[in-house]
Amino acid sequence: MQKESGTINVPQLGSRKLTACYTVLLSAASAVSAGVYYLAAGKLAELGLGAAAYGLALLLPILIGAGTALITVGPANRQFRHLRLAFQKIIDGDLSARLPETETGAFRVAYSDFNRMAEELEKVRAMREEYVNTFTHEFKTPLTAIRGFAELLQEPGFTEEEQKKYLQIIASESSQLAELANDAMLLTKLETQNLPVVRENFWLDEQISQCLTMLERSIQEKGQNLTAEIEPVEVCGSRELLSHVWTNLVGNAIKYTPNGGKIAVSLTHTDKNAVFTVTDSGIGMTEEVKSHIFDRYYQADPSHTRKGIGLGLPIVHKILDVCGGQIEVESRPNQGSTFRVILPLGTNAD
Ligand code: ADP
Repeated sequence: MQKESGTINVPQLGSRKLTACYTVLLSAASAVSAGVYYLAAGKLAELGLGAAAYGLALLLPILIGAGTALITVGPANRQFRHLRLAFQKIIDGDLSARLPETETGAFRVAYSDFNRMAEELEKVRAMREEYVNTFTHEFKTPLTAIRGFAELLQEPGFTEEEQKKYLQIIASESSQLAELANDAMLLTKLETQNLPVVRENFWLDEQISQCLTMLERSIQEKGQNLTAEIEPVEVCGSRELLSHVWTNLVGNAIKYTPNGGKIAVSLTHTDKNAVFTVTDSGIGMTEEVKSHIFDRYYQADPSHTRKGIGLGLPIVHKILDVCGGQIEVESRPNQGSTFRVILPLGTNAD
């Protein structure tokens, strides 16, 4: 047995070592009992107790057995009871239940595993609550706007120009709703592998150019400067899924870069891979933010002042998983970000 940061390293519950320890201990107790019984019975017989001496001497091994059981099974049973009660609390919904991780002998690791499980469950619950709030908020805002403007339009007295403006708001809010619903659905399908992946040969440079054309208006609205260096690259993969990757990454670069900022997109290739990068001069990210960006519904700024609900990057990550690609991120606060996608060129055989 060794000491590790102040704790005695006791064999842990479920380990072979613990079985071995109990076996040795109980064998030793049996041997001691037998010896004591032999000596005691002899002594009592000498006192002339006859056959009664052997019955009386039996008390000693019984006491040794009971003592051994109290010393070993007693504490283990108490600790097991605590574990069971803690599990009961979790079952009843109290996820704050924790067990002491010090001086718990054979249950130390089991207690610490229990605590880790409870912490994870608490995190999942917090994330779920945040998700419900975010989701409700994101759906409620456009819905409220749509209803408000639709009701307004029913009232007389608006000029044709005003009516047109309200209808435009309704159209834009509805398309935002559709986008949210589509993103949520796409990620669920990707995660449940409920999506047929159709692989085909296509020119990635053409797809990326199309994506940039689609986003041109947003770039112009923010007065941003876009540069693109795009080499012809043919890949074999899911054309439909991959288009989400570029739209999300370039869309984020636009979204998280202030007006007048710079965005640079490039596409090149090695022998085996296509390499796409998008660099922006935007708000950048801390290490902490960077470590969460691929989590579902994560947003560094949860105030919802920007469009989106934190599903873009999890979708990108999942799609790249499905397509055998990788994504790398470099970023520093206020110094912009670079997202790099490495995608196998694939084979032309299928
Ligand atoms: P969102 O809908 O919030 O854009 P994403 O999943 O696309 O969701 O991104 C998750 C979070 O990662 C964003 O909320 C933002 O905090 C951070 N992020 C993503 N791209 C960038 C970027 N180019 N610059 C700075 N932060 C970014």
